[in-house]
Amino acid sequence: MQYEAVIGLEVHAQLKTRSKIFCGCPAAFGGEPNEQVCPVCLGMPGVLPVLNKRAVEYGIRCGIALNCTISERTKFDRKNYFYPNLPKGYQISQYDQPICKEGHLTVDGQTVRILRAHLEEDAGKLVHSGADGLHGSDYSLVDFNRSGVPLLEIVSEPDIRTAEQARKYLTELRTILRYLDVCDGDLEKGNFRCDANVSIRPVGEEKLGTKAEIKNMNSFSAVERAIKSEIERQTKLLSKGERVYQESRLWDENTGMTYPMRSKEEAHDYRYFPEPDLVPITIDRAWVEEIARTMPELPAARRTRLMEQAGIAPEIAVVVVEKEELANFFDEVMTLGAPAQAAKAFLEPVLACYNKKAGYNIVDSVVTPQNLKDIITSLESGIINAGTAKILFTELLDTPKMVSSGGDESAGVTEPLDVLHLINSRGLAQMSNENELRALIIGVLNDNPKQVEDFRSGKTKVREFLLGQVMKKTRGKANPRILNKVLDDELSKN
Ligand code: ADP
Ligand code: MG
Ligand code: ZN
Repeated sequence: MQYEAVIGLEVHAQLKTRSKIFCGCPAAFGGEPNEQVCPVCLGMPGVLPVLNKRAVEYGIRCGIALNCTISERTKFDRKNYFYPNLPKGYQISQYDQPICKEGHLTVDGQTVRILRAHLEEDAGKLVHSGADGLHGSDYSLVDFNRSGVPLLEIVSEPDIRTAEQARKYLTELRTILRYLDVCDGDLEKGNFRCDANVSIRPVGEEKLGTKAEIKNMNSFSAVERAIKSEIERQTKLLSKGERVYQESRLWDENTGMTYPMRSKEEAHDYRYFPEPDLVPITIDRAWVEEIARTMPELPAARRTRLMEQAGIAPEIAVVVVEKEELANFFDEVMTLGAPAQAAKAFLEPVLACYNKKAGYNIVDSVVTPQNLKDIITSLESGIINAGTAKILFTELLDTPKMVSSGGDESAGVTEPLDVLHLINSRGLAQMSNENELRALIIGVLNDNPKQVEDFRSGKTKVREFLLGQVMKKTRGKANPRILNKVLDDELSKN
C-alpha cells in the first residue's frame, strides 16, 4: 500500500517586545535566573494582568503578512494545566477568538493555509538538575524570566505533504517574521519553536489518519529529519496492520528517532474558559489599516524584484532574500547607482564565503556597499579587470571588521576602506597600454618557441597556455580585450 504524509505545523514565535505581555518586566533573553520577574509573571495571588499593546500590534502585523483575517473582536482565555514552570496553574492564551485566522502562505508555488495565529504568554524554563554538572539528579530548577514573554502561536492547516516542504514553510515563515522585525527566529535560543503534527493515509484517501505531535527539534534540519523518521515509523506500523496512537513524541537528535512523551490531552482537558481579568478587545479597523500601510517589502515581493531587476536566478534569490542583511547590502549598492546586472556577479563570492565560514555575515566584514559600488564603477570604466575586481572584493569580504578599539592584535580594520586608493596604492590598475603588452607578448613567444610552432601547425589549444603566461607576467592585470587582440596579431605573424 502507498501512503502519503499529512503534516500540520504549530510555530511559537517569541515577539520582540521590550516588556512582557501582561506586566512591565523586560522580555530580553539571557538575564540572571529569576531577575526579570514580578508578582504578575510569578502568578502571585491577587495580581492583575495588563495587556501589552505592542504585542497586539506585532500579532496584527504577522496576521497581515500571512494574509489572515484580523478579528474585530478578540479575547483571552485560560488554558489550565499543572506543570512546575506555570506558576498560575494556567496559561493565558486565546481559544475560540484568536487575533488572526484563515490566512495562507505560499512557498515554492504551494499554498499552505493558516488556520489561526493567537497570542499567549510563555511559561518559565525548567533547568533539570545535572545539566550544570553541579547538582544531584533529584530536582529541577525553574527560571521564570521567560514566564509572560509574548508568543504568537501560528497554526497551519494540515496542507503540508513532505518533510522538505515543512522545512521550506518554516524557513519562509521565519524570514517573514524577521522582515517584520517582530521575532528573532533563533531556534537554538528557543524564540522560534516548532511542533510538527504528522499522520499518514493511503494515497487517494480523503480522511485524515491519526496524528502524532513531534516536539523538541532545535533546527530546521532536525525538523526535517524528525518528520521523515516519524513518517517511516508510522508507515511501518500501518504496513504491519498495527495502529498509530495519538500522542506527543520527542525527537532525539542522537538516535534520530522519536519517542513517546505523554498521551495528548484532549482539548477539554485544558478546561478553557474566558480570562476574567482581561476585557475582550475590539480591534479598530483604522489601526489595522495603519499597520498595513507600514508593512515592509516581504520576502516574496523582494525575490520577484531581485529576479526582475538584477536577473538573479530564482534559487539564488531565495538564498539572498533569506539573509536580509545581504539583500539590504545589494539593495544599497544598487541605490548608490551600480547597475543591478553588474552587482549580481558579486553575489557568488559572498555566498561562497558564507558557505565556507558558518555564521559569517557580510556586515561582519569591512566591505561596504560604497566599496562594491566603486569596484563595479572601476571595472566598468576599465580601470581594473574582472579578475582583479573579484579578488579585491573577496579580500575585503574576508577582512573582519574590528569590533573592539582596544590596542589588541585582532585582525581587521576599523576605518572604511577607499577602493580607488587601494587600486592605486597596490598597483592593481589594469594594463591597457597596447605597446607595453605587445612587448611582453613578444617576450613570451620568444621564450616558448616550441609552443609557438605547435600553434602554427594547428594545435590551437596551446594559445591558452601562451595567454596564461602573459597574464602571469602582468600579475593578472592585463586588459583581456587588448591582450587577446595583440596576441592574435603576433601569433598570425610568420
Ligand atoms: P490539537 O488540538 O491536538 O492541537 P489541532 O486540531 O488544533 O490539534 O491541530 C493542531 C495541528 O495539527 C494543526 O497544525 C493541524 O493542521 C494539524 N493536524 C490536525 N489533524 C492532523 C492530522 N490528522 N494529521 C496531521 N496534522 C494534523
Ligand atoms: Mg497542538
Ligand atoms: Zn513580570
